[in-house]
Amino acid sequence: MNFTQHQLLEILAQSPNATAIYRTGQIIIEYANDAMIAFWDKDRTVIGKPMEEVLPELKEQPFIKILQEIWVTGITYEARNTAAQLMVNGKLQTFYFDFTYMPILEDKKVIAILHTAKDVTEQNLYLEESENRFRFLLNAIPQQVWTALPDGKLDYVNQVVCDDFGSSGDTIAGNGWQEYIHPDDLAGCLHNWNMALESGTEYMVEFRLRFRDGLYRWHLARALPLVEQGTIKLWLGTNTNIDIQKRNEHKKDEFISIASHELKTPLTSIKGFNQLMQRTIDQEKLQTFLKKSGENISNLERLINDLLDVTKLNAGKMNYAMEPFNFRHMMANSIENLQLTVSTHEIILENSPDIIFHGDQFRLEQVMHNFLSNAIKYSPEGGKIIVNGIVERDNIIVSVQDFGIGIAGDKLDKLFDRYYRVDNTDMRFEGLGLGLFISSEILKRHQGSFWIESELHKGATFYFRLPLSRSLMNEPTVITDTYYKDSFITIQFNKAKKCLEVDWTGFQDLASVQRGGRMMLEMMAKNYCSKILNDNRQVKGTWSEAADWARNEWLPEIERAGLRYLAWIYSPSMFSQLSTKKSVDAISNVTTQFFTDAVAAEEWIDQQPA
Ligand code: ADP
Repeated sequence: MNFTQHQLLEILAQSPNATAIYRTGQIIIEYANDAMIAFWDKDRTVIGKPMEEVLPELKEQPFIKILQEIWVTGITYEARNTAAQLMVNGKLQTFYFDFTYMPILEDKKVIAILHTAKDVTEQNLYLEESENRFRFLLNAIPQQVWTALPDGKLDYVNQVVCDDFGSSGDTIAGNGWQEYIHPDDLAGCLHNWNMALESGTEYMVEFRLRFRDGLYRWHLARALPLVEQGTIKLWLGTNTNIDIQKRNEHKKDEFISIASHELKTPLTSIKGFNQLMQRTIDQEKLQTFLKKSGENISNLERLINDLLDVTKLNAGKMNYAMEPFNFRHMMANSIENLQLTVSTHEIILENSPDIIFHGDQFRLEQVMHNFLSNAIKYSPEGGKIIVNGIVERDNIIVSVQDFGIGIAGDKLDKLFDRYYRVDNTDMRFEGLGLGLFISSEILKRHQGSFWIESELHKGATFYFRLPLSRSLMNEPTVITDTYYKDSFITIQFNKAKKCLEVDWTGFQDLASVQRGGRMMLEMMAKNYCSKILNDNRQVKGTWSEAADWARNEWLPEIERAGLRYLAWIYSPSMFSQLSTKKSVDAISNVTTQFFTDAVAAEEWIDQQPA
């Protein structure tokens, strides 16, 4: 059956697909159906005109050139999802088309070009939108997320990965990620990954990843394949940071091993003495064995009590009987009890406050006992233990000083942690590393704190502080826009130097540091300035409870408030210096200098631009 030309055009006109026919190398529009004319936003008058004239916006675009080439080569051109800019409703707009330019040949010569097109703009926008949403979602997740191609090459990592590694997505993509895996973990990881790729099943592995600071952190990696029409389209994976869990697990294992060992030692002795007693009839020897085995039973009891205390503390079930008692008697009692069992050391009580204190006497004796028995244990050469109890600024301050092995500076602040023991590899000291943790919890319940001053091989002084009355001390004495003073801090805005001068005094804790810190922020807001001279010379003991708060909340806030130069005069307390290092190191846009000398600090801050 042969159609007339007219019939053929009728058929094309009915087609829902946009269609046009062009003639000559000039691309004259011979025919265009309604759908095509609608794409162009024109009317029937376009027929018989060159495309260039009808759609001048195409001049800068490739289409007319492609059509002209087809006129010469006679080769069909097909494209999908291609952007074209068309003038519609008086505005240049982008549309996406699937289209074909097909030459119609007669005697191997092109006599016309048939153009069919389908508008896929909406589909495209939808895809773009859902892709954007997908990316947004992946970036919003606070853990590492990645996608990989079916062959296992990474083609996307979220911002968390880039931030953690300190690298660009391009460096990590492909196989670049393998660089960041701990060499010892890489083989296992690749084995599991290849198995998953082969079988198309879930991928799961634990490995250490190297972060921008050069340190490795344990992660749990998981990935699942997205399967469409029976084939894997992509892999979606996550790496979850499990470093804390891993470390806790390790700590726990280590602790159980120490605890078993510690419990076994006195038990073995008791067993030994028991056997000896069974075989002995000599009354004198029997008495010695009984005494020795009694001492070991006490040791065992103390270890078990410590374990029970920690369990109670963890569950928040430690009971306190708060009652008034004489502090001097309590101190003297604790010392006497211990001195009775020790002949190697002399415990000297230099001062003690004759004060009625409200608290749990039994628990505070436990703290004294812990400090004293540590002082004895960690000065194996024997000698003096000096104990002092004084009242200062409405606080009882007790110190226990020994002249033993001491503790290195970098180990000091870790001693607050449960189970932490300084690694005394050269000497072996019995203990579980629970005593200080229990003591610090007991002191906290009395609103107190403890800290340590020590130097390796020169002995250690352990302090604890118990506040006598709190409510009286926090009242500010003076407040103006440029001046603030309470019993912990004096803040003064030096107008001439455009500098906030801050002087901290006495025993700081979380509450006092937070109050002072917030006051400083207020003063910064009232008197815009970029410099702070922070004087910690009068700070006693520790403010380490506040160190995390200062680092994570206060310093970023004061940086936002405009701080650029910070001169920090150290407290003479080693513990306070450690707290400073722990928190101040974290700020980036503030130039910080540390001083022990106030004049040097003042000179430096004066030299900085206001
Ligand atoms: P332990 O039962 O291990 O003694 P503690 O919690 O009482 O547990 O002490 C924790 C760690 O602190 C000890 O393992 C030791 O390393 C260190 N330590 C405590 N007191 C002293 C001290 N007076 N001198 C040196 N190191 C000390």
